[in-house]
Amino acid sequence: MLILMKSDASDADIEAVCGRVRELGYTPHLIPGATRVAIGITGNQGAIDPDLFARFPAIAEAVPVSRPFKLVSREVKPDDTVIKVGGAVFGGGTFGVMAGPCAVEGREQLLATARAVRAAGAHVLRGGAYKPRTSPYSFQGLKEEGLELLAEARAATGLPVITEVVDTRDVDLVAEKADILQVGARNMQNFALLEAVGHAGRPVMLKRGLSATIQEFLMAAEYIVSKGNYQVILCERGIRTFETMTRNTLDLGSIPLIKRLTHLPIIIDPSHGTGDYRSVPALARAAVAVGADGLMVEVHPDPAHALSDGPQSLTPARFEALMESVRAIAAVVGMKM
Ligand code: PEP
Ligand code: MN
Repeated sequence: MLILMKSDASDADIEAVCGRVRELGYTPHLIPGATRVAIGITGNQGAIDPDLFARFPAIAEAVPVSRPFKLVSREVKPDDTVIKVGGAVFGGGTFGVMAGPCAVEGREQLLATARAVRAAGAHVLRGGAYKPRTSPYSFQGLKEEGLELLAEARAATGLPVITEVVDTRDVDLVAEKADILQVGARNMQNFALLEAVGHAGRPVMLKRGLSATIQEFLMAAEYIVSKGNYQVILCERGIRTFETMTRNTLDLGSIPLIKRLTHLPIIIDPSHGTGDYRSVPALARAAVAVGADGLMVEVHPDPAHALSDGPQSLTPARFEALMESVRAIAAVVGMKM
């Protein structure tokens, strides 16, 4: 259930309602809005009787939430969540771009890519330090050394950095070094990891699972938000279908629906979504046109020798051209960039 407070409700009024929610054995979540405060209630099994709140005159309305996801739903919070990290903004009409190599491979590779993507107008540097690879024999990432290199690249370029965390034991360390924590597709339903990043005090980018439905995707985000972390960016990166000629099937049709269902920003990763650098620019343009709040694109100075995901990585020159066309589409659809 969602309790909408009157616009003139005082802090004491709000606290009194929260106290009543706790007394009933549930958890209140304060959701500040443009004109009034809402209180989301979780922890209940089944519907809550609105009469339990009849004695609070500062309540405007008690409305049942029809979706299984509560705190991430637009029913609970109608206005867009806007996530600001350094100079990057995701949501609320501003388009943010994350770019960088799939994996941090070394100082030169990372710094060269970081400088190139910044010059082309990217807002966040990406780079995997812990790589969740399908094969145990593939490059697994530079781990702590990779985190140090990301911090160095941030210092050199001023770009905030995002990197994946794959293990609950690493959450504190990654949160200390990186500006945004990435939860990868393979870990979308790693509930212990979702709870841990929910407590990490850093924005989280949650990628859609390989075979996750939209509802499962939003429920995974709900895990993070229910721990008190509202700073969640969703990322559509393609799902597994019967098609084998593309690496994944990029679900562009999910974007307008997800925008209706949730207030959280959603970005698109056309690199993993297609698996082929030749398809990336077209799908990046489609991302802006379809209403996504941003992009994540893999860029490598020498894709032919990349240690992971070379075939889908853009050269810096191709990324620069992509950014130009993305900016043109953003202007057409009225997105700030
Ligand atoms: C990545 O971003 O490099 C990655 C591993 O992506 P995903 O989790 O979407 O496969
Ligand atoms: Mn990758």
